[in-house]
Amino acid sequence: MVTILETEDLTKAYGNFRALDQVTVRLEQGEIYGLIGRNGAGKTTFMRLIAGLSFPTKGKIRLFGQMVGKKPAANQKIGVMIENPAFIHQLTAKEVLCYFAKMRGLVYSDVQLNELLTKVHLADTGKKKAQQFSLGMKQRLGIAIALLGDPAFLVLDEPINGLDPQGVVEIRELLRLLATEGKTILLSSHNLPELYQVATQYIILNQGKVVKQLSLSELEKQTRQYLRVATNQPQRLAQVLSETAMIGNYEITRNGEAKLFQVKSKEKLLKQLIAGDVWPTTFVEQEESLENYYFSLIGGS
Ligand code: ATP
Repeated sequence: MVTILETEDLTKAYGNFRALDQVTVRLEQGEIYGLIGRNGAGKTTFMRLIAGLSFPTKGKIRLFGQMVGKKPAANQKIGVMIENPAFIHQLTAKEVLCYFAKMRGLVYSDVQLNELLTKVHLADTGKKKAQQFSLGMKQRLGIAIALLGDPAFLVLDEPINGLDPQGVVEIRELLRLLATEGKTILLSSHNLPELYQVATQYIILNQGKVVKQLSLSELEKQTRQYLRVATNQPQRLAQVLSETAMIGNYEITRNGEAKLFQVKSKEKLLKQLIAGDVWPTTFVEQEESLENYYFSLIGGS
């Protein structure tokens, strides 16, 4: 595995306020990382630090195995889209790309510009000016700008925010394609369900701190199916469940209901409960909500 980015105790303070607080993470090549947190959690602060747009108060950043010092050299290996993609709205998509390529001293032929536009599905926009683009098109143009110079690591702040479902699908497909090409991607969102299944790894930030880091498969476990059982005698329910060997995996929630996972036979379970004099008032299959899980990590509802 090739490590693209490592941070150690990365901290950014404004006066006494820590926008980012001792963040230690490691990003591996080819993965899509979702940086999730509510507004003000520190996502943009983190991205600006690793993109060299601001400097840490404390802590270390190692990019492509090299320490990032006080004066980061212009790093062609990173492509960045932070905050609203800023481009000149009176230009066409190709002119925008041409402009940014020149600004960065990159030589792009017409064919190469067309290839890049094709990749982000903007090849057919012709003479249309960027100001007439939909939000999704603007986001894809922003990603195309970030892709200039063919960087190995893409840092995209809220690329999906505000898009309609079709726009989300298009960005999702583009990001997956880029990851299969070996690019490492870090993207942010304030909404975990929004990034669900786009990212392969999730870093959850709250008040400047990493509260959880987990893979897509670990996250999927949080959204597993369960059988919800409630009765008027929660203590009796808990007792019967604890005595019933066939029930492996279950939890009793705070309000005395039971969540049972991977129940093989609902019929047998119901018979056992009734044999134990437990009469369910609720006996229903449900799925853990991703949103509930997210709020259990960051607090609030
Ligand atoms: P959003 O989704 O709203 O962009 P975020 O997770 O990206 O949120 P940041 O922009 O990183 O959050 O901001 C984190 C905290 O740091 C916020 O409370 C913000 O007000 C504060 N902050 C950011 N930049 C500065 C600054 N230059 N001076 C003072 N405080 C700042």
